[in-house]
Amino acid sequence: MGTSSDAILIVHKSHVARIILKMFLSFRVWKKQKGLDYTVAKGYDYLRDRGDKFQWYELVWHKWSTPKHSILAWIYHHNSLNLKEKLQRLGIIEEDACCICRLASETKKHLFFRCEYSMKVIEAVGTRLNIRLPTHNLLLWRLSCSGSKNKTGILSAIINSCMYNIWRQRNTSRFELQILRPTKIASFIIAELRIRLMGFALSKVRDEDRRLIESIIRS
Ligand SMILES: [Zn+2]
Repeated sequence: MGTSSDAILIVHKSHVARIILKMFLSFRVWKKQKGLDYTVAKGYDYLRDRGDKFQWYELVWHKWSTPKHSILAWIYHHNSLNLKEKLQRLGIIEEDACCICRLASETKKHLFFRCEYSMKVIEAVGTRLNIRLPTHNLLLWRLSCSGSKNKTGILSAIINSCMYNIWRQRNTSRFELQILRPTKIASFIIAELRIRLMGFALSKVRDEDRRLIESIIRS
């Protein structure tokens, strides 16, 4: 009867065999499709199936967002925030109720886009800026927005700022047992955006983008 190390060895060998077979097939396919210019690096790229560029990249990395907001968004998109739902799943905490409303499990979707508090923050920001921000599908909405790179970047910056400040309020609610009113946070978000946007030279942007920036600065 085989030992567990034998079993591991068999699994390992079959895994290696599969990789070799896959490499051989990829070489054949490569030759057929792209001619004889085959290198190991090209074969590896072909094999690993890179897929499309992550859609969230354009939501996160652009000049309009404050770096700390981009970093929070980046962590969010990597599912690396220490949300209570995750901590409970790992056995670190016993309950996973949302730190703000305590009415639902604290998942990333709930905390940022379904929690009543967060929805009020986003709505208040939208009202102040005169931009309709649909809380339930905010990220998809932003990805569907057309317009210049500057315009979509500014819209992403608004969303990232909302997310960053909701996360901060979540932490103060959890660790300091206090939370500011949504309208107060909305004012803070807009003040932050205003400072950020005032740092850019408006002479270098298109009229349409300049109008958007000026409307945010004046709001
Ligand atoms: Zn909640």
